[in-house]
Amino acid sequence: MIPFARPRIDQKIIDEVVATLQSGWITTGPRTKLFEERLAAYSGVPKVLCLNSATAGLELMLRWFGVKEGDEVIVPAYTYTATANVIIHCGAKPVFVDVNADDFNINIAAIQRAITPKTKAIMPVDFGGYPCDYDSINALVKQADVVKKFTPVTSEQKLLGRILILSDSAHSIGAKYKGRRTGSLTDVSVFSFHAVKNLVTAEGGAVALNLPEPFDNISIYQYLCIKSLHGQNKDALAKVQKGGWRYDIIEAGYKWNMPDIAAAIGLIELERYDSEQLPRRKQIVDLYNKLLSKYTWAQLPLCNNEKNNTESCYHLYPLRIKGVNETQRDKIMNEIFANDVTVNVHFMPVPMMTYYKQLGYDISKYPTAYLNYSCEISLPLYFDMTDEDVKVVVSAVVQAVNTVLKQQ
Ligand SMILES: *Cc1c(COP(=O)(O)O)cnc(C)c1O
Repeated sequence: MIPFARPRIDQKIIDEVVATLQSGWITTGPRTKLFEERLAAYSGVPKVLCLNSATAGLELMLRWFGVKEGDEVIVPAYTYTATANVIIHCGAKPVFVDVNADDFNINIAAIQRAITPKTKAIMPVDFGGYPCDYDSINALVKQADVVKKFTPVTSEQKLLGRILILSDSAHSIGAKYKGRRTGSLTDVSVFSFHAVKNLVTAEGGAVALNLPEPFDNISIYQYLCIKSLHGQNKDALAKVQKGGWRYDIIEAGYKWNMPDIAAAIGLIELERYDSEQLPRRKQIVDLYNKLLSKYTWAQLPLCNNEKNNTESCYHLYPLRIKGVNETQRDKIMNEIFANDVTVNVHFMPVPMMTYYKQLGYDISKYPTAYLNYSCEISLPLYFDMTDEDVKVVVSAVVQAVNTVLKQQ
């Protein structure tokens, strides 16, 4: 059986985790702080905060910006549910918009139509590791008519004076747009280090702070450390310093910190991300493209745009089978599974999920998201995959498509 994804766990990772266990410090401490510094340097941002998930990071930043009941946040219909759930947690309303047919990402014209005086934030998603068109998104929220609509309430909203761009970069660490890495492309970006993502810590996430002047990203970072740890003004490491037991609670904060055991994995993975993880993923994608390009039914994913100097970090390989409907796609997937290859779909659009349907969302309003979904199959893609595995996957896909298309 070829799995869909598999984290790269080798002796180097095991040794670093064991060293962390033996160090006597397993929760948030020196390794997490070092991982934060290295992530900030890597992404080219002033400050990075590590947490126990990307979901926590997205919610933390919505709450930091004061998003609450009565507010609206714009998100693509084509995403994982985490992007929308955190808006619900804050009591605000997710406003879904449709996506592009070529790169699966949020459609800029659709964002523009969805903006109202209630809009507090936009959460673009870098689908599959391919960055959104951030120049257009950043320019849109600074447009005079859009700024005029913005209705600031909290001091953060007044200071920014416009809609916040909170990027869901769960897929896209290391991807580039106009030569710059994700994290540095907009106000705030949130990475995921969940077990199936490009860079893993088992569970984990990070907030890349890149807020414009006059915000002070360093002091915001310090405040967010407190907010993500019970509102406690001293973390565990500060408390164990001699005589440092006394602390205060300044608000009812959350419990979202990253443990050092997780950071240990992340430190090793980040160190070899550009030299090993990314090049191997690109090789696998290139091989898929080479083997699949001769089939007229295969719509290959967009990973590069030389004109825009944009390059994916090859998180997913979202193959589309031209002209098939949802039922045929499901049949093709069953055939592939029968050949012992694990495939997936990214994503079933959030408005199709029961909870969101009950809230009144309707997939027919997002026709491109539905079309992308109904003919999409994500193929296995992970560091330890061999060229032979790629060939096995492709022949399983080819056979499955031929079988199902012949049945018509
Ligand atoms: C995985 C994922 C998340 C959530 O990441 P966690 O670290 O598991 O919280 C958010 N958004 C998208 C698009 C994802 O794929």
